[in-house]
Amino acid sequence: MFAFVAERLWLDFVNSDTSARGTDALHDFGRFVGWLEAAQVLDAERAGSMQRRALQQPAGALAVLGDARRVRAVLRALAERGASAPDVRVDALGEINRVLGRSAGTRRVELREDGTFARAFVAVGDAFAGLLIPIVESSADALILGELERVRRCADPRCGRVFQDETKNGRRRWCDMATCGNRAKAARHRMKLHA
Ligand SMILES: [Zn+2]
Repeated sequence: MFAFVAERLWLDFVNSDTSARGTDALHDFGRFVGWLEAAQVLDAERAGSMQRRALQQPAGALAVLGDARRVRAVLRALAERGASAPDVRVDALGEINRVLGRSAGTRRVELREDGTFARAFVAVGDAFAGLLIPIVESSADALILGELERVRRCADPRCGRVFQDETKNGRRRWCDMATCGNRAKAARHRMKLHA
């Protein structure tokens, strides 16, 4: 249901805005938690506890959903224009620090089921506020490491997905070879047949 093709959590989060495909991850709180679980930000146990908490505190869940939409819009601007527009980077920095500044918790490194390691953030107090931390930390890493130059938009104008180009020659064009890349290949093939 959700695609993780961007090589970076924050870019996958930007791509979660796929209302055109009918699967906006921020459609409601339950789906947002589903996305976080699919992205391996939350394990099944924490995801379940978030869902239960949302039933008890619907206003809090709604607030974090609104916040997530706002953060996503700022991160989309950062992905699409951040490399060339300093003011977009400054806006994103303000948003990143706003999110980082208001949640307290414990940082951990966890061993995943597939044997890889991942950073985790276990919030204390307002647990909802901590949900966006791993996402904004991922975007902060992009600023710190100077990665914005390699953020690309899928070459299919109808697609809109962004991704981190990690190829050696820096010429990755498609968000996903299995969908957009394949469509382009098929189109080229058809043109050849008709030439
Ligand atoms: Zn694409």
